[in-house]
Amino acid sequence: VYNTALSLIRTTSVITAGPSTSSCSNSAEEESGYVVDPAQGNAYHMGQLLGKGGFAQVFLMTDVNNGKEYACKIIRKNRMQKVHMQKIAREIMIHKELNHVNVVQLHHYFEDNLNVYMLLEACPRKSLMHVLKYRGKVTEPEARYYMKQMVTGVAYIHAQNIVHRDLKPGNMFLSDRMIVKIGDFGLATRLDGQPRRVSFGSDGVTSRCFNVYCNVASQEAHVNMQTLAITLKTWERSNLDRIMNYNIPGFEQNLSWTICGTPNYIAPEVLYKRAYSYEADVWALGCILYALLVGQPPFDTTSLQETYDRICNNHYREVDDSIASRNGQDLIKWLLQPNPELRPSLERVKEHAYLTKEHVPTSLPLISCYQMPRASV
Ligand code: ADP
Repeated sequence: VYNTALSLIRTTSVITAGPSTSSCSNSAEEESGYVVDPAQGNAYHMGQLLGKGGFAQVFLMTDVNNGKEYACKIIRKNRMQKVHMQKIAREIMIHKELNHVNVVQLHHYFEDNLNVYMLLEACPRKSLMHVLKYRGKVTEPEARYYMKQMVTGVAYIHAQNIVHRDLKPGNMFLSDRMIVKIGDFGLATRLDGQPRRVSFGSDGVTSRCFNVYCNVASQEAHVNMQTLAITLKTWERSNLDRIMNYNIPGFEQNLSWTICGTPNYIAPEVLYKRAYSYEADVWALGCILYALLVGQPPFDTTSLQETYDRICNNHYREVDDSIASRNGQDLIKWLLQPNPELRPSLERVKEHAYLTKEHVPTSLPLISCYQMPRASV
């Protein structure tokens, strides 16, 4: 399987720059509405478009043999640079090992001449981002329901030595039964063994930003560096210009290729310190819990620079009794500790009174995606 993932890299012979936002569906097969896995001969029927990501389109896909439905992430190869394919191969290598009720299952993956296909567990109730969009915020029992599942899922991911690095409501997918499914491992990394620190740039800003954990030698560093720089794009243009001066091959194209969202869920050590680890995911979960209860993430402002300053100064409006119980307030403060060493592991968060002593619903009605459920929740 490892070889297959690597073959994704080797088959990328055509290297062209630029964003890959064009349609994925123009091969003869796709126009016929079917895609065939060339290795296994299995045919899949392509259904509706479920969404578009930075470098992928996601379609509902049905296995014609057994009628099983998947969300199929289709990544077009001809616009990919080698480093992009390496990133996808890495995402697949990480994601395929994960098997947990609160993690989107990667059932199968294959490639043809045009595309890479990832057959994912379909999550028809979309994501917590959509819940927040419709609802503004949710009730405390709902927040506990979502939080308990997010914590369980991310604790499992951490137990596999993986940091997700992009936890946000949009990556908290919801199954047809409203079960939280953590998805999108495009920025995830494995922290096996002794991580090596890699530095780029000798001046203050870039060396702070480019000191990243690296465990697969320079290729990994290259990918991490892009991730950080892309984050910076949304943050401070002047820093970006300085980074570009380092003249890293393929770097410029990347900037228009994958865009991270706002820095709302990024931990301070990611912005400031030399290395970051599992604690950055713990921070992001604190931000998500806050957003669920309050209706906006804790450091949200109209200015990216201001948001960045607030993250670094731990400046947010504390949750009061009208919004959350004392246990809830306590948990948020614990998760949003500016010092990552003081943040709890998720195994400890699982035992927190907010999730163990207070009412956590065992299920939510589907209507709760759009409106406040009745008192029974
Ligand atoms: P990228 O990694 O390129 O950003 P994503 O994984 O975020 O791509 O997917 C893009 C969009 O596709 C998502 O925002 C969502 O709307 C939809 N999507 C992704 N995975 C699923 C899934 N498992 N079930 C249903 N829709 C999905």
